[in-house]
Amino acid sequence: MQVEGRIIICDAIDEIGISILKKAGLIVDYKPDVEPDDLITSVRDCDVIIVRSRTKITKDIIDAAPNVKIIARVGVGLDNIDTNYADTKGIRVLNAAEAAMNAVSELVIGHMLSLSRNIPKANDGIKVGRWLKKELVGSELRGKYLGIIGVGNIGRNVGRIAKCLRMNLIGYDIFPINQEYVREVGMIKTDLKTLLENSDFVTCHVPLSAETKYLINSETLSYMKPTAYLINTSRGEIIDEQSLFIALSEKRIAGAALDVFEVEPPTNTELLQLPNIICTPHIAAQTKEAQELASTVIAEKVIQTLLTNR
Ligand code: NAD
Repeated sequence: MQVEGRIIICDAIDEIGISILKKAGLIVDYKPDVEPDDLITSVRDCDVIIVRSRTKITKDIIDAAPNVKIIARVGVGLDNIDTNYADTKGIRVLNAAEAAMNAVSELVIGHMLSLSRNIPKANDGIKVGRWLKKELVGSELRGKYLGIIGVGNIGRNVGRIAKCLRMNLIGYDIFPINQEYVREVGMIKTDLKTLLENSDFVTCHVPLSAETKYLINSETLSYMKPTAYLINTSRGEIIDEQSLFIALSEKRIAGAALDVFEVEPPTNTELLQLPNIICTPHIAAQTKEAQELASTVIAEKVIQTLLTNR
């Protein structure tokens, strides 16, 4: 099925989506490194704007694109798009909701194992000739309580994998958690405070919003056990990094693993250099499989939306 339209892609995406769009007859302007000044002129004749997380689609960019009908995010979170303003202009905002689910979940499990078995410390030690066998006595995931904050696509999938590792699951969400899922994995549903008080590992999977900004702050951190670990692969601003720094440096919690930061790349070196924190550079969705899937899903959704709206 052929469709007409002009598309700008503002961030690097897997080539499969680009080829699907071109095959459908669309004109694609691929500008993966475009800067805001250039973007504002480049969007002028576009029907569709495609982004990942780097490019911010602000009110000014939307105003500079009078023909735009669709803004599409090759990924999940929509916090880099002014969705409210897009809505007032009748612009459809699309995402690839489930494409990164498995990739993010596997990184969460990787971070839990890295924290509980001291894998980064063991690796660093051995590379500088230190045999830290006696010092690095870890703990096992089996039988531990995993608290999942935000039991959506990713939270649910993390729970399923953790269940296979014989962990116990505690879940908190502002919306009712699917009953069938609760039965399938044997999840205990509770409020945020009870989750934090009882979990050995806490993993965050909420979107960034006014309600979730600094959801993890000095008060909520104070509910956690001193032996507990915190993992964040959702958005950096979910955690108040200054409060996390205090909690980690005063050993009020055992450790943390972060894939996302308040500012990216992070500038908070005081926090990053603590011995009980592990960091990755926002790579949770960076797998070949997830990138291909997200790029394909978005290309197909864009074509379908243009076809149904013409
Ligand atoms: P989702 O929408 O399926 O699930 C989010 C869940 O959070 C929902 O169940 C929702 O009800 C719940 N929620 C919203 N506000 C809440 C609140 N105040 N308190 C408790 N629960 C709340 O989204 P998802 O696909 O599971 O993704 C979650 C987030 O992960 C995304 O919004 C995105 O920011 C992040 N993410 C990060 C990466 C990465 O590369 N690090 C990749 C993909 C997604």
